[in-house]
Amino acid sequence: MIVDGCFVLNHEIRRQRLSLHYDESSQCWVIADVDASLAIGPPDWYFTDQQILFPSFIDIHVHAREDSSATENYKEDFTSASLAARNGGVSAFMEMPNNRVDPPRDLESYRRKVFLIARSIKQTSVPIVPYVLIDKNSTGAFSFKVPYKVYYGVSVNADPHTSFANKDELKEVLAKYPGEMIAFHCEHPSALKRYVGESTHGTRRPPSAEVDAIHDVIELAVEIGFHPHICHLSTKEGAELCLNAKKRKIPLTFEVAPHHLYFSSEMLESEAELQKISSYFHVNPPIREERDRLYLLEIVKKGLVDFFATDHAPHTLEEKLVKGFSGFPQLDTYGLFIEWLLKYEKVSPVIIAKMCTYAACNFFNPFWESMLLQFPTLQTLNLPKLGQIEKNFLGDFYIVDLYDKEVFSRLTKENLKTKNQHSPFLYRPFTKGLER
Ligand SMILES: [Zn+2]
Repeated sequence: MIVDGCFVLNHEIRRQRLSLHYDESSQCWVIADVDASLAIGPPDWYFTDQQILFPSFIDIHVHAREDSSATENYKEDFTSASLAARNGGVSAFMEMPNNRVDPPRDLESYRRKVFLIARSIKQTSVPIVPYVLIDKNSTGAFSFKVPYKVYYGVSVNADPHTSFANKDELKEVLAKYPGEMIAFHCEHPSALKRYVGESTHGTRRPPSAEVDAIHDVIELAVEIGFHPHICHLSTKEGAELCLNAKKRKIPLTFEVAPHHLYFSSEMLESEAELQKISSYFHVNPPIREERDRLYLLEIVKKGLVDFFATDHAPHTLEEKLVKGFSGFPQLDTYGLFIEWLLKYEKVSPVIIAKMCTYAACNFFNPFWESMLLQFPTLQTLNLPKLGQIEKNFLGDFYIVDLYDKEVFSRLTKENLKTKNQHSPFLYRPFTKGLER
């Protein structure tokens, strides 16, 4: 199949003609040839200059819920998360280790996780890299490269050994991980403790909790020498700390999530009908003020944000509305959200491709390659490489029609692939995106 269109490359948008072939062994479309001229033949698909093609996205922050006990498979499993990912234009993701049972924290539990992942890849062809949990009992890095995750402050599914109580406790364990990449959930435990009696989800988890935690993480990264990655950054002050650390050449990276770029506490409060479903919008860290949201959007537009990651965290609708569990599914809406950034916030396509594909791939690929070396059965699946528009790379694209201003109105409950079929973007009182 020959496709002629405007592809978003690493630094520019360029019209190219690609030849794609369907590879039976991996069940993926693969790029067979790249040519800007007509040399590879007339196109089967021709896209206009208003239709831009993104190489499919990588989400580095997903909760797929599946563990060896399968007790949370009613929320999601690797296969349903992978189908939701493909539905949203995402071709690979990284999975967070906050499982209630058997999180990957040592070699044996890690192998059990990879076994579940391999089973899913055989059905969906979506590669998944699991983060390894560092907790109070962790004894040091694996002999091969894996991404690590620390809960510095309690989030969902916490057990007493999972999160750290203070900086000293954290330092003692992280001293065993110099040189490693460690992702952090940053909400300082002392602040969470101090505000536990507050009346709303947002005031129980205030901005200062994030800022204090990031502050500690940066100090420890300098002292010990690991690569800190800050998950789902939500505050202006937290972002300023991160940008400042980058200026000081600390090898820090950070991600922003769609809900912190779209919703603000003012927005939710001003929409009276949303009050009765306000627990739906519980997420950790919480939806922040409009000033935080606008600042995060501003640094996205300037290309200062490393990654865009959904923090896809499915629960049943009952768990959300009655029990107020934190997090919501977002893989299905990844591409739609990107369209909103492009069409309504005028974020440059090249910046989006950098955050969502190219930089995300550079983050993902070394961990995936390390997994392939450790688990030869994964190699036999023969999955194409990700993150370039080059021969032998995955030929999967997310197509955005810039003339079509519809965004979230295209979303229906029925076309969600996540198991519990709800989305924060289904609850919007307006459907055409946020017009300003
Ligand atoms: Zn998360």
